[in-house]
Amino acid sequence: MHQPVTVVTGGSRGIGAAICARLAADGHDVVVGYRSDATAAEAVAETVRAAGRRCLTVPSDTADETSVDRLFDAAAELGPVTGLVNNAGISGGNGRLADADADGMRRALEVNVLGYLLCARRAVRDMSRTGGGAIVNISSAAATLGSPGQYVHYAATKAAVDTMTVGLAKEVAADGIRVNCVAPGIIWTEFHADPERPAKLAGTIPMGRAGQPEEITGAVSWLLSADASYTTGAILRVAGGM
Ligand code: NDP
Repeated sequence: MHQPVTVVTGGSRGIGAAICARLAADGHDVVVGYRSDATAAEAVAETVRAAGRRCLTVPSDTADETSVDRLFDAAAELGPVTGLVNNAGISGGNGRLADADADGMRRALEVNVLGYLLCARRAVRDMSRTGGGAIVNISSAAATLGSPGQYVHYAATKAAVDTMTVGLAKEVAADGIRVNCVAPGIIWTEFHADPERPAKLAGTIPMGRAGQPEEITGAVSWLLSADASYTTGAILRVAGGM
């Protein structure tokens, strides 16, 4: 295996930014994919560089095939990509299916499903040529619990992430590529349309509180590491007991 070079989509804030910092501390060079906020992405890059690792920030809409190719072409400047964290996702807001509009549903499917597939496809194409690697898909506990009132199509997109993880893990196991999933519960980030939602839902969480982004990162780093060398197709829920 080469020096770890890991692409993190949606790395400019929230869970993705925490993952970038953790991976740098654990010895990865990091490619921070982001959609719109270059300043936030650069702040994450500073954290990575402060840990002594190399870092690139690359604007990329993961739902766009050409943009995904640009992300991975840029990443290759750091060496063969050995890791992908498929993290860029949207909630699409809160509401009932009866009130949802088709454009919102389509965008959630594009970013949360097509985007993950496009990034995973490019990663396995590259990794199968360069000696293997590991992919971690950030799913959600909602994939199995449903997301009533948070637009049920959000949970449906995450169920798709779970099943693509299991299928792709089998498909590429012989190529030296592992594919796993981390499924967070309710985490304090700007993801929630209602910023107080994590506090409001605390009573539904066995541990009695929402999680911090940093509490997701150890699982991701472990799944990318050689310590997880026999782990593939796993879905690891990190959700305070949800
Ligand atoms: P945030 O909204 O805080 O951050 C999302 C990140 O994804 C941002 O960097 C955003 O970039 C980026 N992004 C969104 N759309 C695209 C796109 N089309 N192309 C590239 N980048 C994009 O979310 P979280 O950190 O909370 O969520 C990260 C992941 O964790 C998501 O997949 C989410 O579904 C999942 N998750 C989150 C939970 C939570 O409670 N927070 C619970 C369970 C799962 P920009 O700022 O430019 O828009």
